[in-house]
Amino acid sequence: MASPYDHYKAVPNPPAKFSEKKKKPKLVAVVDEDNCTGCQACVPFCPVDCIAPVPKDKYNIPIPPVQIKFNECIGCSVCARVCTNLTWDAIDMLTINEFEAVHHIELTDDKFPPYGIPKAPKAT
Ligand code: SF4
Ligand code: SF4
Repeated sequence: MASPYDHYKAVPNPPAKFSEKKKKPKLVAVVDEDNCTGCQACVPFCPVDCIAPVPKDKYNIPIPPVQIKFNECIGCSVCARVCTNLTWDAIDMLTINEFEAVHHIELTDDKFPPYGIPKAPKAT
């Protein structure tokens, strides 16, 4: 019989110290800001410390959602597992190609600039 605590097993311990991105990953995390409660449960689990609250003036609400510094993300999916298993379901993992096409942001092999390089949408 499944234990009520089984879903916690998908969640690793928070990192003792942070590392950093060395190359462009295959996946990147994207927060659905409309679905995020701003609980920040995911924040200490990110191995590269790239999750932070959005600036308060963006929504002008007491507890803003979080956002990912996309170009620092290593695509480990830990934040998505934390959100799904411990709190909510507000983080999607996208392939880099999908992310760059949908968000019109180019990611790089290093972690600069933190949010990637905006690119102009293709004319339709
Ligand atoms: S755990 Fe989920 S709901 Fe909580 S801040 Fe992170 S993304 Fe938002
Ligand atoms: S997938 Fe989530 S936990 Fe992993 S590096 Fe990216 S933002 Fe951090």
